[in-house]
Amino acid sequence: MDRLPEPKTLQEAIAYFADPDRAFEFAKSLRWPDGNVVCPRCNAAKNSFIKTRRLWFCYACKRQFTIKVKTIMEDSPIGLDKWMTAFWLLANAKNGISSHELGRSLGVTQTTAWFMLQRIREVLKKHSFDSSKIGGEGSTLEADETFVGGNVKNMHKGKRVKAEGKGPYKNKTIVQGILDRNLRQVRATVVPNVTRETLQNQILKNVKYGSTVYTDNAVAYDNGMQRRFLHDVVNKTEAYVRGQVHVNGMENFWSLLKRSLRGTYVAVEPFHLSRYVDEQVFRYNNRNAKQTPRKDADRFKIAMSQVVGRRLTYSDLTGKSDSPHHETTGTGTAEISEPF
Ligand SMILES: [Zn+2]
Repeated sequence: MDRLPEPKTLQEAIAYFADPDRAFEFAKSLRWPDGNVVCPRCNAAKNSFIKTRRLWFCYACKRQFTIKVKTIMEDSPIGLDKWMTAFWLLANAKNGISSHELGRSLGVTQTTAWFMLQRIREVLKKHSFDSSKIGGEGSTLEADETFVGGNVKNMHKGKRVKAEGKGPYKNKTIVQGILDRNLRQVRATVVPNVTRETLQNQILKNVKYGSTVYTDNAVAYDNGMQRRFLHDVVNKTEAYVRGQVHVNGMENFWSLLKRSLRGTYVAVEPFHLSRYVDEQVFRYNNRNAKQTPRKDADRFKIAMSQVVGRRLTYSDLTGKSDSPHHETTGTGTAEISEPF
């Protein structure tokens, strides 16, 4: 294989990963950075590599494994070249990428592309709501909710305070987000309602003790918050007057989310919305900043290094157990035996 410098742009990435050996070596270095390949099934370190088939034989469990075993790509007939290009695209596209667009770019069907994108979103989720807590002593955070769905448009804040998930908002999906201004990290998740219990529980789950949390004037944040946090209720009309006390950072995040939902994804079922939120959170939390410089290649590597231990089956996504034609290659002949 030709020696090429590591890709920095999409164009370089496509050329780089088009060579199966290069794609394989790159994926291998991300999965086992120290070079010690261990069996994904039994963790044994003793194995032999069968170069011609790009797979290993484990001496302990006597089974073969590929680079894809126990990753989000397991059982996928799609080659690493396409997977890695798809990771690059989704990790870096500011407004996301539609399955139609990805399908055309990779030469796979739209359904295949959709399934790939959902799996990649599952991988991006790692640094979302379920990971470590944010905030802490001396930290300032913003908590806010937004309503998504129907004709996606920005709700007037005053109106949604009263909504509590009822009335005109009953067809909307509610997303709650928390921003750590110091870390510049967001946690966001779909919540079933905007009751006091739901919203405050999410904050307790995601925010360290001793944080200052700013919210809007939603009644849901009254009572109880003070016991745990130094809480200051923001009244939107007073935000400018009161300086630091606002949720403008979260509102900025919501506008990014809604731009990709409106512009790229158009129709997202409520059932799937949380994955699109995870996708936006990943890009937001890994955006280029002075303290944490991140280039496209960095975001790609972060995403790819999270593929291990993730699974998302067709039935997880659709509730159906069969998976008719959900993954075929562009030519319509799925190479199931493809070793990687
Ligand atoms: Zn083994």
